[in-house]
Amino acid sequence: MTQITPKVYSIEGMTHPDPRGKVFPYLFVEDQHNLTLIDPAFLSQLPILENYLLDIGYDIKNVKRIILTHVHVDHAQAANEVKRKSGAKIYSHWIEANYLGHDPPYSGPPSTQETIEKFQKLGVSITALEKQYGSLDVEPINVDEQVTDGDMIGSLKVIHTPGHTPGHISLYYEKDKLLLGADSIYKHVFGAEGMYISAPQVSIDPITAILSAQRLSKVNFDKLLMAHQDSPLMEGAKKAVEKLVAESIQKLKE
Ligand SMILES: [Zn+2]
Repeated sequence: MTQITPKVYSIEGMTHPDPRGKVFPYLFVEDQHNLTLIDPAFLSQLPILENYLLDIGYDIKNVKRIILTHVHVDHAQAANEVKRKSGAKIYSHWIEANYLGHDPPYSGPPSTQETIEKFQKLGVSITALEKQYGSLDVEPINVDEQVTDGDMIGSLKVIHTPGHTPGHISLYYEKDKLLLGADSIYKHVFGAEGMYISAPQVSIDPITAILSAQRLSKVNFDKLLMAHQDSPLMEGAKKAVEKLVAESIQKLKE
């Protein structure tokens, strides 16, 4: 188990249908009986998450808030079930709340079909995938609290970081100078080296994704936790993001 700071845990052990990556839900401890779960990931992997909570002395019923950073299946699929088990409220950006409610449905990129085709190219058996993960769709999710840029969800500040999806959010915990970047930035996963900004194949607006990363680079943070990473950046993260953004903007100019 990984306790990042006294209040923040990264939930280990979740696999991803893309064998070159993982997904990390995060847990924020407001207090002993008041947990915030960020992106509960795949429904079929909920037992891993529940066992993780038990290992660190909590129960799924202690989850009072579920924050969905965006609509993608590998982040949001288990949300309804966690809510059913815990009674927690679901939070998302107001734009994403529409897509989570299928009003209108989100069609990507990537669409479910594009995702399946990508996995086939990687040599992943779709039968095995269905056996392990069930559906790669997300059932409609009713968001209880719609948020916008600058809102606080408990101790976490919402930063709207569109580009990957229209209503994608990152979260900032000022006391620890810690940024939860979700799918704004990836690190050394899915077959790519080093850090990179949400790629065009998985972004509704890749240029806006770069500008969102630029906005994140202005936040006063030191630690960066990503949903898809080999390991978190525990120091000097702001400088690393500044460099990444400068390089990405330079490439746009070429
Ligand atoms: Zn995503």
